[in-house]
Amino acid sequence: MERRQFISLSCFAGLIGLYPNILAIAAEKSGAEKGFIMTVNGKIDISAMGLTLPHEHIVTDFKGAEPSSRPEYDNEATASLLLPYLKAAKKSGIDTIIECTPAHIGRNVKLLQLLSKASALNIITNTGYYAAVGQKYLPKHAFTETSEELAARWLKEWESGIDGTDIRPGFIKLGVDNAPLKPVEITLIKAAAIVHLKSGLKIAIHTGNAAAAREEVELLIKSGVSPEALIWVHAQNDPNGFTHIELAKKGCWISLDGINEQPSSLVQYRNHIYRMKGEGLLHKLLISHDDGFAVTEEGGKAAFNAFQNGNTTPYKTIFEVLKPSLTALGITRDEFKMITVANPANAFRIKVCPQG
Ligand SMILES: [Zn+2]
Repeated sequence: MERRQFISLSCFAGLIGLYPNILAIAAEKSGAEKGFIMTVNGKIDISAMGLTLPHEHIVTDFKGAEPSSRPEYDNEATASLLLPYLKAAKKSGIDTIIECTPAHIGRNVKLLQLLSKASALNIITNTGYYAAVGQKYLPKHAFTETSEELAARWLKEWESGIDGTDIRPGFIKLGVDNAPLKPVEITLIKAAAIVHLKSGLKIAIHTGNAAAAREEVELLIKSGVSPEALIWVHAQNDPNGFTHIELAKKGCWISLDGINEQPSSLVQYRNHIYRMKGEGLLHKLLISHDDGFAVTEEGGKAAFNAFQNGNTTPYKTIFEVLKPSLTALGITRDEFKMITVANPANAFRIKVCPQG
């Protein structure tokens, strides 16, 4: 049996199990084709995603995967502290923030849910592991388990919820360093492929350099996954942008996600975006800031400091600084809307039968 046919049949069998009523099956099948978005407050229609920042953080803990102690903090108090930034983001027109902090590097889904409810922003969290930065954020079992075993852990989060909650991931987030990919990184990518084929969750990978992105695409194709399912996170690490064009033409999403106020950096981003426009590939582009707060311990108490990434205030630079300069470059309002509304919805939408 062809792999494609097998996947379609297994998806359909899954639907029959869930919905014995034939009308319900038909309705679910049409919904499956369009897809949906999974937020920390549950499913939403892709049309409700609106203006989206596809790569941000709220709280990240950089202490490592298995430290002897972590900064402890109260979720309610922290939500009150950070809420003004999220309310300001909502007021500026942002509807959805995709929170890219994986497990073992500070992911806190209860805090995200509190902040989502209080700010009225959609917030999306993730499953998966981060092997970048010399693998210091990988738990011990990531080095000994097979792709199938790791996939089973992540699928459990998809099916039953994260950390004892009913909050489900809206995508898979991995991290890898420069090429060549290391064995543990390959194991994680293969695990992500398994999870994608069973759940439809898209795969966003923090990637060290362009050569590593190319390896990711080849590995996913070999695992039966379309390049359309891959979001190349930190594509700005490819300084001349030639690989953006090569991989976008294959279907990958190109995420330029470190946009900041520094003039020399802005020139780089403008050049990348202009090149994508020239190649007719703006429909594969995502832009974001990679803003957020690092939690540390200061004087026995948790402290939250904005990332030192060139932005003085989080979640603002694209709209206040980059957008006017893109208009001057000839990027139209409709193109900007496509990049910030349609593209994130297409990149992150979950189809029940991803290959169907
Ligand atoms: Zn990030």
